[in-house]
Amino acid sequence: LERQLHQAQRLESLGQLAGGVAHDFNNLLGVILNYLAFVEEVLETEEPDRAARDSARADVTQIRRAAERATGLTHQLLAFARREVARPRVIDLNHIVEDVRQLLQRTLGEHITLMTSLSRTIGPILADPGQIEQILLNLAVNARDAMPTGGVLSIETDDVTLPSGHGSGWDVPAGAYTLVRVTDSGTGMTQAIVDRAFEPFFTTKPKGQGTGLGLATVYGIVVQAGGTIAINSDPGHGTTISVMLPVTDQRPEPAPACDPMAANRGT
Ligand code: ADP
Repeated sequence: LERQLHQAQRLESLGQLAGGVAHDFNNLLGVILNYLAFVEEVLETEEPDRAARDSARADVTQIRRAAERATGLTHQLLAFARREVARPRVIDLNHIVEDVRQLLQRTLGEHITLMTSLSRTIGPILADPGQIEQILLNLAVNARDAMPTGGVLSIETDDVTLPSGHGSGWDVPAGAYTLVRVTDSGTGMTQAIVDRAFEPFFTTKPKGQGTGLGLATVYGIVVQAGGTIAINSDPGHGTTISVMLPVTDQRPEPAPACDPMAANRGT
């Protein structure tokens, strides 16, 4: 029963979420159709002059932007919907960072420099690689939005041992953790924004640009993986998001023949 209730609640929040996303999505499609009409007009002109072609090019840029935002929205919705069916595996966080590096750089644009500093001594974690990519992508999108005139985004990994007893400062048990730290040189956040940043639907971005689900999704993934997350921000100077994920003592990828669950996977 508890499972069913939980499922019902999830479907309800997913429904609310889908409603909100559908609304934003529809606005974006409206924008795209509008600009398309301008472009068609230019294409139908016999010999468009230079000014007409320039304006058509600008319209195409607007179309691209709107389409990219729409893609971002559906990705967030899918990430939220998929959250429960995480497929944890033993993974090396550095590999994930390396795998998405190109995608991140493309997301950030050419005015933001992406720097990575990966520790080779970090331990393996047990997590869904797609979800870890999602975390990095969401954090990068936020960093990009906080650096409209460019800047630096740095991603660092490190190994951390939390001592037992009080005062580690982190709300997770003592033990070995893998830390990933994402730092931008952007606008930063006031304490009031930091306090609400993980709340679903909390956003300071203009309508159509923010869903308020980026950090809520990140938070959900991190907590589900047994980790924790912290924000340190200096308004006017930048923000650091630290994600701590417990090091696993499981071994990577058991051979399928020895794994009785293997036959149930991928269905
Ligand atoms: P969204 O990006 O859709 O607004 P998020 O949950 O990802 O939703 O972020 C919530 C809010 O937290 C943002 O609207 C912004 O005000 C703030 N924020 C998040 N990341 C950063 C950052 N790196 N720098 C400055 N502000 C940030």
